Amino acid sequence: MRTVVAKFGGTSLADADQFRKVRDIVRADPARRFIVASAPGKRSPEDVKVTDLLLACYDKAAAGADYSAELDAVGARFRSIARALSLDFPLDDELQALRAHLDGEPRRDYVVSRGEYLNSRLLAAWLGFTFVDPEWCVCFDDAGHLDNAMTRRTLGAALRPLQNAVIAGFYGADMAGQVHTMTRGGSDVTGSLAAAAIHADLYENWTDVSGLLAADPHIVSTPRTVKYVSYRELRTLSYMGASVLHTDAVLPVSDLDIPINIRNTDRPADAGTTIVRKLPRGETKYPIVGVAGRKGMSVIQVEKVMVSDESGFTAVMLDMLKNRKLPFEQCLTGIDTVTLVIRSDLLAPCKEELFAEIREKLAPDYLGLTENLSMIAVIGERDTESSDANVRVLHALAREGVPINTANQGAGKLNLLVGVPEDRYEDAIRVIYAAIDDSMQNEGA
Ligand code: ASP
Repeated sequence: MRTVVAKFGGTSLADADQFRKVRDIVRADPARRFIVASAPGKRSPEDVKVTDLLLACYDKAAAGADYSAELDAVGARFRSIARALSLDFPLDDELQALRAHLDGEPRRDYVVSRGEYLNSRLLAAWLGFTFVDPEWCVCFDDAGHLDNAMTRRTLGAALRPLQNAVIAGFYGADMAGQVHTMTRGGSDVTGSLAAAAIHADLYENWTDVSGLLAADPHIVSTPRTVKYVSYRELRTLSYMGASVLHTDAVLPVSDLDIPINIRNTDRPADAGTTIVRKLPRGETKYPIVGVAGRKGMSVIQVEKVMVSDESGFTAVMLDMLKNRKLPFEQCLTGIDTVTLVIRSDLLAPCKEELFAEIREKLAPDYLGLTENLSMIAVIGERDTESSDANVRVLHALAREGVPINTANQGAGKLNLLVGVPEDRYEDAIRVIYAAIDDSMQNEGA
């Protein structure tokens, strides 16, 4: 029998109506046996997430201030769900216990984890599934880091005997029983760990969008939804700022080749985006997945005649960065030039002394700095040649008068990176999107 792990995010479980949708979705496929839940998220753009209310409770309690308003708001969120669904659940006892903890020596991670804990207990009651508390099976080491290998074993042992279960996302505990939370959005990681632990056939990640978009919808109107994306392409998209899944959620399932399907709780009929290691046959005919970018980049350009014959020149430069723990985004070398792309906020504190050291140690013929740049990635690692699309990208930018400061594809086919001035970033994204429109797959295409 197929087994699916389905994780529902905060907006998918924000109120009783959303709980009803979730139950319909779970019942629609008996393979959806293991459900991972987030804390209630926002019901409207002005609303506050329960996790943020809990954070505020903790901050106030730790400062000895009155946290009643925030705790009451947390209680009201859960009470309205429990009442509307007529759930038989000792919510008052739970809230009382939380208050007692806050009045003692509160621990931040414990307090913040209560959003997932309570929501998962309510969801388990609503679905008639067993509740699994990650305190016993999502393992952190003594330093407070998630222990992937141990979690896989322990969570697997906890889930395998069960027909179905709801697992609270976002937290676990160390050997001493201290609760630890993951970074924000961490329920995605719990879902991935659960899917890996039981070798699920599929990890569904239910959220409030119908998958990944091929471009930022604030810039391009109604961009395509990406149907398939490889783990590597996703990594590049996320790095470039397209956020749909916690970055740590990929590794546990990609190791085991378990696909991730991003789905929309409000539009369950949409196929969403499927993240895979290898694209299915026929899906490789479109070379490009999408376009994404980042602002706030600087480019350092060092020129010296015959630099290509001088061994160690680039290494000396990279050592200077290493000594300052300054990461770089790209390093491009030409006949007589070395170009480094670095995040401006990281470069700013050491710019002057770095330049002084380059002048002193390398005596360049020219040393230049271009600031306020953005880097745009045109992403696609397909069997199909993407060079045609790349040519069209560069040509379209030139035609529209968008200056190209750097262009880099390296030897791999994963992406073409172009550097353009920050004030032309939005133009560039629109121009590129239009140029590659027919090179992209489309949901239902
Ligand atoms: N509730 C947590 C957050 O708001 C974790 C999650 O939703 O995944 O970040």
